[in-house]
Amino acid sequence: MEEKDYIKELGAKMAAQDKLSTSYPFWVVMRDVEHPTSSDYSDGRKRREDSWKLTCDNCRALSIDGAVLPDDCDDCDEDCFYDYRSVGTPDLEHGVFFTQEACAAYIKARSYAMGLNAHPYAFSAYFSVEMKAVMRHLLEQGGTNPDCYR
Ligand SMILES: [Zn+2]
Repeated sequence: MEEKDYIKELGAKMAAQDKLSTSYPFWVVMRDVEHPTSSDYSDGRKRREDSWKLTCDNCRALSIDGAVLPDDCDDCDEDCFYDYRSVGTPDLEHGVFFTQEACAAYIKARSYAMGLNAHPYAFSAYFSVEMKAVMRHLLEQGGTNPDCYR
């Protein structure tokens, strides 16, 4: 497809998609990232990588057998574990997308590396003069009044 035709098609797709009540929407890959936290705000517990010296005899035996150790054990020292909270975090190393469809397709094509919680997430480019100008241009090329993105 010629670039000119691609731009027209992109503008038409942008106009037709659900804007999710967002002014000048663009999409990014959103992922849940685990941050250490206190137990009051915890979404779960995990075993520390360096917990070897503080593990109980049972867990030590499991480890020697090559088993994955449990993320909680009453017999291991409390310092073997940490509480974490999952926080939705934009993963900007993948860039930004003008359509939710393209963002979702990108994630799907790389699902082996993205993890199960990766999903498209819309932000507004309302405060970016540059992004707004490009989006309006694309919408016009797609045959749509760009004010539909306000
Ligand atoms: Zn244990």
